[in-house]
Amino acid sequence: MNRYAVFGHPVAHSQSPRIHAAFAQQAGIALDFRAIDAAPGRFAELLDAFAAEGGRGASVTLPLKEQAASLCSELTERARQSGAVNTLTRVDGGWHGDNTDGLGFLRDLSDRARLHVRGRRALLLGAGGAARGVALALSEAGVRELVICNRTPERADRLVDAIGDPERVHSRYWQSLPDIGNFELIVNATSAGRDGEPLSFALPYSLLGPRCACYDLNYGEASLPFLAWARSAGAAHCFDGLGMLVEQAAESFLRWHGVRPDTDAVYEELRARAPALHTGD
Ligand code: NAP
Repeated sequence: MNRYAVFGHPVAHSQSPRIHAAFAQQAGIALDFRAIDAAPGRFAELLDAFAAEGGRGASVTLPLKEQAASLCSELTERARQSGAVNTLTRVDGGWHGDNTDGLGFLRDLSDRARLHVRGRRALLLGAGGAARGVALALSEAGVRELVICNRTPERADRLVDAIGDPERVHSRYWQSLPDIGNFELIVNATSAGRDGEPLSFALPYSLLGPRCACYDLNYGEASLPFLAWARSAGAAHCFDGLGMLVEQAAESFLRWHGVRPDTDAVYEELRARAPALHTGD
């Protein structure tokens, strides 16, 4: 049996087992895909045990993506540069790490939302594992400028350093948000909104430029506060992260099984259940 899993903490609400089961059914592949709850202190040990049982690949969700990168014997260039791994593949007795979050995010924006980021001034809120993949993707996709703002500023600074393009990509303190002008794309990559916890800083309406698009990596209930703010601030387009969730999983599936699944049917099935979905990847 093909053994795959998603590791996270918590992980009970992850949609990954459902998504990968649907992809596998499409492709006619027999798959055992389970959710494994791994507190950060036990992740390495549980991943070893999974490998010993024949685990061939794993998705990694919060808060383990940066730790996953440190457990790999080999990294793709984008995983190395972002310092975060969401896709592990067993190769020659070690873990090969990739990051498909950025690709999934861009694919959802361009193919589903028909929105292109090239030339836009973008603001990224958050500097955790998911933000790292998205920041790199935005930079590579040609945003005019990328400002990264995080509750813990040192983490935003580290991300800016990892991208290494200080002319275009830089960090700002959240206290300076009222003074940094407006944006054409604002991405919420924080985990605020989960468990009802609000963003720890205020977002002024002045951040929205004309025709601004706002994208929350969260979906379901966790995306409601940011998207409500975006609508009341007059955003031209608002998106949650459900499409990204399906697209990043499809990229992982392609790496593991060599088949690109059709994402639309799976997306529509999940969309019919949102916003009752809890965020989980
Ligand atoms: P993470 O590594 O734990 O990072 C969490 C980020 O949120 C950090 O930047 C953290 O700031 C910030 N944060 C947490 N609570 C906050 C609050 N109350 N106010 C302001 N900032 C806060 O998590 P992650 O893996 O990056 O995931 C982030 C979110 O994206 C999660 O909710 C996850 O479910 C979602 N996600 C969605 C997809 C998708 O496919 N749609 C993919 C990946 C992730 P500090 O650094 O100050 O702690």
